[in-house]
Amino acid sequence: MSDNTNSTENKLNGNRPKNFIYEIIDKDIEINKWGGRVHTRFPPEPNGYLHIGHAKSICLNYGIARDYNGKFNLRFDDTNPTKEEQEYVDSIIEDVKWLKADFENRILFASDYFEQMYEWAVKLIKKGKAYVDDLKLDEMRDHRGTVTEAGKESPFRNRSIEENLDLFERMRKGEFKNGEKVLRAKIDMSSPNMLMRDPVMYRIIHSSHHRTGDDWCIYPTYDWAHGLEDSIEGITHSICTLEFEVHRPLYDWFLDELEIYHPQQIEFARLNLSYTVMSKRKLLELVQESFVDGWDDPRMPTISGLRRRGFTPESIINFAEIVGVAKRDAMTDIALLEYAIREDLNKRAQRVMVVLKPLKVIITNFDEGKIEELEALNNPEDPSMGKRTVPFTKEIYIEQADFSENPPKGYHRLVPGGEVRLRYAYIIKCDQVIKNEKGEVIELYCSIDPDSKSGSGKSTKKVKGTIHWVSADQSVEIEARLYDRLFIVEDPAGEKEKDYRELINKNSLEIISGAKAEPFVKSAKAGDRFQFERNGYFCVDSKYSTESKLVFNRTVTLKDTWAKSLKQ
Ligand code: ATP
Ligand code: MG
Repeated sequence: MSDNTNSTENKLNGNRPKNFIYEIIDKDIEINKWGGRVHTRFPPEPNGYLHIGHAKSICLNYGIARDYNGKFNLRFDDTNPTKEEQEYVDSIIEDVKWLKADFENRILFASDYFEQMYEWAVKLIKKGKAYVDDLKLDEMRDHRGTVTEAGKESPFRNRSIEENLDLFERMRKGEFKNGEKVLRAKIDMSSPNMLMRDPVMYRIIHSSHHRTGDDWCIYPTYDWAHGLEDSIEGITHSICTLEFEVHRPLYDWFLDELEIYHPQQIEFARLNLSYTVMSKRKLLELVQESFVDGWDDPRMPTISGLRRRGFTPESIINFAEIVGVAKRDAMTDIALLEYAIREDLNKRAQRVMVVLKPLKVIITNFDEGKIEELEALNNPEDPSMGKRTVPFTKEIYIEQADFSENPPKGYHRLVPGGEVRLRYAYIIKCDQVIKNEKGEVIELYCSIDPDSKSGSGKSTKKVKGTIHWVSADQSVEIEARLYDRLFIVEDPAGEKEKDYRELINKNSLEIISGAKAEPFVKSAKAGDRFQFERNGYFCVDSKYSTESKLVFNRTVTLKDTWAKSLKQ
């Protein structure tokens, strides 16, 4: 942990983080590789919304460009028309911008390179390094061999260059059906690296592409396309996750055979976060099967979900920084992400008092109709945020949980005959408890100690507890949505016995409709963030808030399990 703290401090001091990627780049600059140039990219496939793992990759790649005065590209790896959509492109651009990763208008698309890729494929065919294969998919699989057993060569492997050129051109023209033919690299069917066993470069897909329409019916595979895209853009450090380490020899082979500009690939461990899933396929299923209410559901680990939940970009950037980069896969505790947002909001969130589950209190010795405006701090952490007034009236609400007839040990809130301080107001005493016919407490009759007004200095009386409250008739009704983790186990995708869907937390959303807020929140707009004193940080929901009723999402509670574990 101490290393992580150091790296955060270094960042604050304007120093570069110390990690193995920065060490590699420092050396490259020292030996003047690429003339000291640094150019990174973030290359998402537009087949879903971005998640917190992508955020880590964005922060890392953009951070490097920023720290070395280099450049950062946003490039869509849009090589598979069947899964990609414009909606995803738009959401990705919005999310990358929101994370303040500056791509200076360089929004690039792999589909713009299709013609160049085609020419390069022709070049490989002419060199005798690629061939058209008629094997069916399952036959190809059978020919591939195993980790311990060499593969078998396809009977079509030794077609003449002329025949391959002719067939490949006809593939492009649309003369064949899906799956009838593929273009493969001619490498080595007995290579110990299975990926080198004549990998597929092009397959026939008669589908419209979201950008190129029906111009193409052959599409490059990821393995063929990815290194070429980096090469075309002059990327210096092509940073990707560990699973691509075994693909590197293949990317190298393509670039070397084509004799084109060759970026350096560097792999790092992907981010895994506890109590959630990160695979785009699973996130899509959660949306399609209505386990959540869209990609931006505040319980989703997507950037849009986190934004709607109330996370700030700064908290996510800082989280990525604290997590750092590593060479080995690990599970990051979601409590660390919660810690990052608490740290940020503690410094800047406007405080307000909101009673989530109201219990009416009638102040017997306060005049009916009188409104006393009491001063309250907007943020005790930041005096420059100033003060506001909160109306105090004869009838107020307190939390049901702040009153108990049978208090457990150490309960410092209101009990029959007991006293408690109302935040920014008076000390009250509970004189009488009113119940309904079912025996439930419905109202309390209390009296204030008029000398105990906060800040008046008239009374030295001390009580153990301070609770929040709101005026009954001067408050506004709001809806509060409280979230819990989306899954009940740490690693839902890693469970062998059960499908991850069975591990969804059925109580991950609690909707509280009759909450009462002090009048200050009336003017709040979608996305505004607050601390509801004692109840957590909340953000105005952009989807469900209406003119007549504000809906708040709880971003995070105030209880910090992470900082506590740091102290131990
Ligand atoms: P898939 O390829 O299965 O659709 P993906 O999450 O890899 O899913 P991409 O669009 O390929 O999606 O990801 C874009 C970039 O984000 C890649 O460079 C990838 O390495 C990086 N990335 C994806 N997931 C993570 C993660 N959990 N942690 C860090 N980086 C990630
Ligand atoms: Mg990927």
